[in-house]
Amino acid sequence: MLLTKVLRSGVQAGLRFQSTSAQASAKVATSKTGHGGFSFELTDQQKEFRELARKFAREEIVPAAPGYDKSGEYPFPLIKRAWELGLMNGHIPEDCGGMGLGIFDACLITEELAYGCTGVQTAIEANSLGQMPVIIAGNDAQKNKYLGRMTEEPIMCAYCVTEPGAGSDVAGIMTRAVRKGDDYVINGQKMWITNGGKANWYFLLARTEPDPKCPANKAFTGFIVEADTPGLQPGRKELNMGQRCSDTRGITFEDVVVPKENVLIGEGAGFKIAMGAFDKTRPPVAAGATGLAQRALDEATKYALERKTFGRLIAEHQAVSFILAEMAMKVELARMAYQRSAWEVDLGHRNTYYASIAKAFAGDIANQCASDAVQIFGGNGFNSEYPVEKLMRDAKIYQIYEGTAQIQRLIISREHFGKYKQ
Ligand SMILES: Cc1cc2nc3c(=O)[nH]c(=O)nc-3n(C[C@H](O)[C@H](O)[C@H](O)COP(=O)(O)OP(=O)(O)OC[C@H]3O[C@@H](n4cnc5c(N)ncnc54)[C@H](O)[C@@H]3O)c2cc1C
Repeated sequence: MLLTKVLRSGVQAGLRFQSTSAQASAKVATSKTGHGGFSFELTDQQKEFRELARKFAREEIVPAAPGYDKSGEYPFPLIKRAWELGLMNGHIPEDCGGMGLGIFDACLITEELAYGCTGVQTAIEANSLGQMPVIIAGNDAQKNKYLGRMTEEPIMCAYCVTEPGAGSDVAGIMTRAVRKGDDYVINGQKMWITNGGKANWYFLLARTEPDPKCPANKAFTGFIVEADTPGLQPGRKELNMGQRCSDTRGITFEDVVVPKENVLIGEGAGFKIAMGAFDKTRPPVAAGATGLAQRALDEATKYALERKTFGRLIAEHQAVSFILAEMAMKVELARMAYQRSAWEVDLGHRNTYYASIAKAFAGDIANQCASDAVQIFGGNGFNSEYPVEKLMRDAKIYQIYEGTAQIQRLIISREHFGKYKQ
């Protein structure tokens, strides 16, 4: 019933999700998996989302990924295709022309895209990260203008918070915004911004309160900044260890004038908005890490069932089969962790604890599984003709971006102790 509303006829019937029904369907999906019982069964629509993403990832992303990894070229043809299929920007509300997907449903798609290539998935996911502050804090005009734009054509946005001197310590950022009449004038330097050179607009966090003693939840303001504003200059594309087709750059802001209409909520609200976005974006990051871990498990298993040593398949050596069993355990648990954290936030619960557990756990096991896959491939695992060395390079960033493995543990321990103090 719901699918009749989500499938668009024009573009390859059955291969494109349309925007009109997702909010309702997300509610139904949530209620089926949540209220009045407990179920691990996906709804028919969720299965269709997952199948579509799986088919696209395995048929189109997997074959193209090694080439993009080598060239570092931005995978725009794949991004355009994902946009056409309705596999990106899922969170954009229906009244802005989007699908209004819940986080749970979006995570199912993310895991599949990541299975294909996490460089491509990160470029796509960075759109969700850039959009999230506008989704949670934008007024109607801001949402219609900046989110609506993204449903009309495959354009990118970015989340612009980290600086050369401050990543984990967000309150240490130095970029300044000074009110001048109806505008703000912004000066500063951002670093490590995904989609930095490809974005049409940025969510930007800047300090508006000069007093260093002012608490973080009053000192910073969130802005939407058009990429073509004079004085905004992206730097060179950074050459990273992995996810090499994703576009990561520093950005300089020199007397960049932004109208006050582009302030989210109001002066001083920025820190809470920037941090609040993570409750909704960390579950998908965990889903991406899970997709990579699943790929490592699949590749290693296939190899172990083909490669022979000492007259038998390496899968028949117990030491190898136990590595695969450990990998399978980790993948299953990472999947449950991201699904729990997404389910919580879709029900409107505060999910900070679960989101950090999912992000930390999935980030760690992606690295362990990729490394184990290289081990099972032996010498071939170390070589770029085989798929697993890319997985090992790609996995590392999941322990760094959107809050490092250590910062997630700080959050988890803070939330944990909080329960005992109540
Ligand atoms: C490829 C890539 C893409 C990125 N994309 C974006 C983006 O789109 N937008 C954006 O704003 N940022 C982005 N980032 C930035 C990323 O979020 C930061 O790099 C990350 O938060 C860590 O900050 P940092 O690099 O300054 O490290 P630091 O904060 O300097 O940390 C260095 C080390 O110290 C540890 N550490 C720091 N503080 C503590 C503490 N209190 N307790 C224990 N350990 C601690 C950290 O865990 C880490 O191991 C990206 C980074 C990369 C590499």
